[in-house]
Amino acid sequence: MSVTVVGSLNEDVLVAVERLPGRGETVVGRDAALAPGGKGANQAAAAGRLSGTGVAMVGRVGEDPAGGRQVAALREAGVDTAGVLATPGTPTGSATIPVEDGSGENLIVVVPGANAALAPADVDVPAVRGADVVLLQLEVPLEAVRAAADAASGTVVLTPAPPRPLPEELLRRVDVLVPNEHELVQLAGAGPAGRTPAELAELARGLGVAATVVTLGARGALVVPAGGPALLQAPPPVRAVDTTGAGDCFTGALGAALARGDDLPGAVREAVAAAALSTTGPGARGGLPDAAAVRALLS
Ligand code: ATP
Repeated sequence: MSVTVVGSLNEDVLVAVERLPGRGETVVGRDAALAPGGKGANQAAAAGRLSGTGVAMVGRVGEDPAGGRQVAALREAGVDTAGVLATPGTPTGSATIPVEDGSGENLIVVVPGANAALAPADVDVPAVRGADVVLLQLEVPLEAVRAAADAASGTVVLTPAPPRPLPEELLRRVDVLVPNEHELVQLAGAGPAGRTPAELAELARGLGVAATVVTLGARGALVVPAGGPALLQAPPPVRAVDTTGAGDCFTGALGAALARGDDLPGAVREAVAAAALSTTGPGARGGLPDAAAVRALLS
């Protein structure tokens, strides 16, 4: 079984503040901490932690200490990083995130850095062509995403985040689309969120993708196959302390289960359990579970 993730690697700079700054205002942060991030790398770390082997990352970092830290964090999660290329003269992507004490609300400023240099030639590689499952998101140039989808021979899973209009040829090449509710509504051009599962399933079917899995936060996930009934998979009870990165854990786990041969409803059941566990630890990667923890929760 093999999963290859094509996407972003970022260094998150988490700054604890008493109050988020307003426009033009300076506030003094209490504490700053570095954490590995980027949607692509978070998905790879989740899949790596769950699978132990067979997970590879394709992306770009700068030739700087931050890039070294992102590669090291992925290796520690069991991910093959041979496809992570160093990019001279460009910094590793970063996300600066002030987080307000108490409310946990945040602001995010992303600098794509080396992620913006990921080119179609970088992704047309054996690790993508031969993977059982290829996981894609939209924090790298769309041309690279399209090239990866075209090169892939296995199952293509796309997280349409951050949301942007997608060409029909790309959607046709996607086997499983994994939007959250807001991303689905935006892709479908359908106005405000807050819809019933039946309405969401209808929007998903209108996109013309083979299958869609809509993540619904604490409500779990809605599986919408193109030609069958939709199924809502509720999460097992957990005590959530930080839901940052739950979506990335969900998709990494979904990819790992599909690569192992699970059918889509079975893979979603595992992904819902893994993502629920991920909310019990801090930050995007603090609560990433291993396979034994997911099995124990599901048994
Ligand atoms: P993020 O941007 O924080 O990664 P997202 O908006 O992409 O999240 P969500 O729909 O919020 O995605 O969450 C992804 C999945 O994580 C959900 O489908 C669900 O399975 C799980 N999840 C999220 N929040 C909770 C929670 N409070 N309790 C249990 N499971 C949760």
